[in-house]
Amino acid sequence: MTATIESPSTTASTPTFESLNPANGDVVGVHPIASKADVDAAVERAREAANWWGALTFDEREEYLLTWRSVITRRIAQLAQISHLETGKPHGDAQLEIIMAIDHITWAAKHAKKILGPQKVKSGLLMANQASTVEYKSLGVVGVIGPWNYPVFTPCGSITYALAAGNTVVFKPSEYTPGVGQWLADTFTEVVGGRPVFQVVTGLGETGNALCTSAVNKLAFTGSGATGRKVMMACAERLTPVIIEAGGKDSMIVDHDADLPKAAEAALWGAMSNAGQTCIGTERVYVHEKVFDTFVAEITEQAKELKSGAGEKIGPITMPSQIGIIKSHIDDAIAKGATVVTGGSDAVGERFVQPTIMTNVPENSTEITEETFGPTLAINPVKSMDEAVQLTNATKYGLAGAVFAKKNGMDIARRVRSGMTSVNSVVAFAAVPALPFGGVGESGFGRIHGPDGLKEFTYAKSITRQKFKPMMMLTSFARDAKTDNNVAKLITVMHGGKKTLK
Ligand code: NAD
Repeated sequence: MTATIESPSTTASTPTFESLNPANGDVVGVHPIASKADVDAAVERAREAANWWGALTFDEREEYLLTWRSVITRRIAQLAQISHLETGKPHGDAQLEIIMAIDHITWAAKHAKKILGPQKVKSGLLMANQASTVEYKSLGVVGVIGPWNYPVFTPCGSITYALAAGNTVVFKPSEYTPGVGQWLADTFTEVVGGRPVFQVVTGLGETGNALCTSAVNKLAFTGSGATGRKVMMACAERLTPVIIEAGGKDSMIVDHDADLPKAAEAALWGAMSNAGQTCIGTERVYVHEKVFDTFVAEITEQAKELKSGAGEKIGPITMPSQIGIIKSHIDDAIAKGATVVTGGSDAVGERFVQPTIMTNVPENSTEITEETFGPTLAINPVKSMDEAVQLTNATKYGLAGAVFAKKNGMDIARRVRSGMTSVNSVVAFAAVPALPFGGVGESGFGRIHGPDGLKEFTYAKSITRQKFKPMMMLTSFARDAKTDNNVAKLITVMHGGKKTLK
């Protein structure tokens, strides 16, 4: 049993909800349900705080962010424990995602100035008398709505980059992981002397909706595509721009010359870690038919000792409603003719799902077409890498994926229609802070992480400064026919040289 965490802002009259330990149903914490008025008040406070935070220099913000990074690092066990209790994931897995988040905070803090600060650009011959600069200005207040599956790493991809760009943040964590969200905001608030630069509003979907319809200047959403649609519709009311980071159905492609034991190890981890509740998890594998049997034998052998349960390497299913979806995908695949290698329909328990691997899974089964978000893996043979790419891309999603190959790895990776691909590893791109992260299609749009992730929380501001009088004054009613003639000649010299295509 663990002591229940009472949120400090809960009073007798505030409606509350409980976060539960998915491994055993224990109450982990009690948190307030923020009303529309509470959310609007938080956004107003954030707007005030933005006057201070946004006016700091990049170097000053870097100092605060790096101090926060050090606080998280020193108290990593504390945060990992809350995440472990709320999500059910093993403590070591909780720590791993925090480590990745720490690296991202550091990168965003250290690179914001170079990427967002004023940069000179060439003015071109026509405007040679102008000095041109572009810089990226903060938007004001950014609303962030997060999921529960990686309750630190995922929202920090938006929160940290938005803060580094000079915005203040109001964060609505998932109702399954409110304690993690509160911890992150509390430690940041400690670092900035109590100023409401990064606040949390806890609650259910309605609180999220209130954030969408509030006066935030941008809304960064991570969660399911279904909720993403509601978020976009709500944000449309005020023309608030959105980023949508939604689900996926990522594949791993294994060519005939791949290192098969390594590919199997990666596929197993990509599919089963975090109980398969990973947006960029491996849900499908397409293996060249020449090595299909060897690959399946290898992964079956490696999966033998892997179990889900208390104290095991795989934790419970965090969201009880997902259990039924996982079972329905397994059952649909079996009904349509898939072969069960390990696990199966009986693998689905009340809280835990045992690893389930199936082969020859029909492409029209939900195990292939829909996000399963559980510890299941479909492995299918392909005749060629062309077929592997075609089947991989025959999905409404387009988040990430992996390729295992010696000779053609990069070529195959480029042909996969998704935002991120790792060659000869899984999910490596997520741990490289300089790389943008996000999807296409129903996996969403917009980017977190990297230079694109910083720019996502800004607007571009272009300035020209006249250095000297122009040779030809074009933007004046005093422009005469001679000037028109001269500028026509100049443009022909500059751009008229290319002959028609043969
Ligand atoms: P979800 O869509 O159920 O909930 C996400 C968040 O939206 C929660 O905080 C929830 O309270 C809030 N919400 C619910 N209704 C709302 C409404 N009407 N308006 C505003 N907010 C509302 O998703 P989830 O179950 O928490 O997360 C799992 C999903 O997230 C999976 O599909 C997974 O693939 C995806 N995910 C994507 C990424 C990515 O980066 N692309 C990362 C992690 C998870």
